[in-house]
Amino acid sequence: MSKQEGLTVKKSDFSEWYTQIIQKADLADIRYNVKGFVVYMPWATDTLELMYKLYEEEMRATGHKKMIFPSLVSKSNLEKEEEHIEGFSAEVFWVTEAGSQHKKFEQPLALRPTSETIMYPMYSLWVRSWRDLPLKIFQSCQMWRYEGKATRPFIRGREFHWIESHNVFATKKEAENQVKEDMEMAEKVMHRKFCVPFIFFKRPQFDKFAGSVYTYAADTILPNGKRLQLPSTHFLGQKFSKPFDITFEAKDGTKHYAYQTCYGPGISRIFAAVVSINGDDRGLILPPAISPYEVIIVPIFKEETMKKVLSHSRKILSRLKESGFRVHLDDRSEYTPGFKYNYWEMRGVPIRIEVGPKDIKDKAVVVVRRDIENKTQVPESGLVKELRQTLDAVHNSILKKADSYFEGAIHSASDQLELKKALDKGGFVKLNFCSADVEGAKCADKIKEKFNAEVCGERYMGEDKPSGQCIMCGEPAKSIIYVARSY
Ligand SMILES: [Zn+2]
Repeated sequence: MSKQEGLTVKKSDFSEWYTQIIQKADLADIRYNVKGFVVYMPWATDTLELMYKLYEEEMRATGHKKMIFPSLVSKSNLEKEEEHIEGFSAEVFWVTEAGSQHKKFEQPLALRPTSETIMYPMYSLWVRSWRDLPLKIFQSCQMWRYEGKATRPFIRGREFHWIESHNVFATKKEAENQVKEDMEMAEKVMHRKFCVPFIFFKRPQFDKFAGSVYTYAADTILPNGKRLQLPSTHFLGQKFSKPFDITFEAKDGTKHYAYQTCYGPGISRIFAAVVSINGDDRGLILPPAISPYEVIIVPIFKEETMKKVLSHSRKILSRLKESGFRVHLDDRSEYTPGFKYNYWEMRGVPIRIEVGPKDIKDKAVVVVRRDIENKTQVPESGLVKELRQTLDAVHNSILKKADSYFEGAIHSASDQLELKKALDKGGFVKLNFCSADVEGAKCADKIKEKFNAEVCGERYMGEDKPSGQCIMCGEPAKSIIYVARSY
């Protein structure tokens, strides 16, 4: 294995490893001079685009329509739902003036921290009768939140990229089904396609999305044992339809407030999870579905064989393109093959094809897998079929590895000493807890104070039954909750 400049060992220093991979795989340039804002480089941008595409396909398949909404919201609209603005007020960027005269706006405008208060005034104009429902809309866009915590590219910034869907239903039941559909969508796309494992938690009442009735949120665990929050889906009930007057006339002519849900897969943050969980000490490992190139062709030549090898490589390139692969030929003559191997390994391309004079004579190519470093010679005649199978095999092995890593990050504790030990190891810790309702807030505060960890919530579809006492207060346990330290 040719080895030039690799990365810090991920296991021993994840934070440094992450900093290095951002630079060496050319994912983001952090030198932009506004704090918390970074520039996304082409490789990251192309990966994100594929991630968006797959998520959007699933949105459309479940009956959502895509729209584009404005990014500014008036102060009065933003403040229409009290709990909502209370939850967000610390994170809002305000636009207060414009033009060379610095003319102050009569009313400050907020850069959207999320779009409920932008979309719902329009919904109230559009929803008139039961015939207009359900209304299922999503948009793919940037969001801005004034983050106080230290920022990291993709993990946490003051600007991020997401999809948000905002749906309206006639009945509570339909809205609650939407929350389930949102979670299934995450399973189909984020887990099975992006290879990011997670658990959906019902967030405790003392820590839900500002303005929701209840929230389910997915959390994963990064290799440093810290929890990273991924998409959440919210049952809003009629909390927004009342202040925003989203009503409809039922079949019998009576007027009702609608039920609503919203859902926000943060694509840039999911990308951070893909990088962190699947990458290794040689760089990224991208699941084939989201790698900008599924296959990279590296020609091996000396000056005298260059012409022949390059022209043969181009033939293979166009054949693979015609067969529908995302494939690229690295024909740069100023770099050695060894340099190129490392270059594309760092970027996580699933399969490398090597073409040299001997392979041409053999009517074959060498196929190398990024995930397990497996090298085989494959006859050109069977190449297309072989590549399809190999891409599937790469996908399955990345997913399997991610799942077994994630399983290993779930622990349980029956007293505070065990809780501390398990948290120090990193990952989720399951425990008996007095209550995930408002009464549990005191014990959650104690966990925060004593162990610097947060309550993630009760596991969605979890099979565990509480028994005995809350390990913090000794009251009879009514919930099994998961606790973790957050990134
Ligand atoms: Zn308790």
